[in-house]
Amino acid sequence: MYNTSQLWCTRCQNNPRVPGQRWCRACLSHYQRERRAQQTATSVIQAEIHAMPQVTPAPVPVLSEAQRQALNEYKTARREYEARRQTRQGWLPQDRSMIMVQLTLRVEHARQRLVALGINLKVREGE
Ligand SMILES: [Zn+2]
Repeated sequence: MYNTSQLWCTRCQNNPRVPGQRWCRACLSHYQRERRAQQTATSVIQAEIHAMPQVTPAPVPVLSEAQRQALNEYKTARREYEARRQTRQGWLPQDRSMIMVQLTLRVEHARQRLVALGINLKVREGE
């Protein structure tokens, strides 16, 4: 007399177990196939997630010649303005403020020209 329930696959109950396992050979290999398929599917999804760009890059605007010139003028005016804004010895306050007014007007004029040409300065400020 012996207990057959110890010897048969607990999954299909049709085949003898693999020694040390609860399932038969057919059920074990079926399970392994399923697990491999599942892992493949998971890694495919992960690869797709990694392939997606983290941040959508801003479209690079293509500048016309007029826009490029206006931008250069603005940058030059800004550079000069920033340079002159530093206090310099030997400058009389009225000389300095007169130059600063002129430079401020120049920067403002260049800025307005850029806006008229459709250039968003906030976007391009970092250049
Ligand atoms: Zn089985």
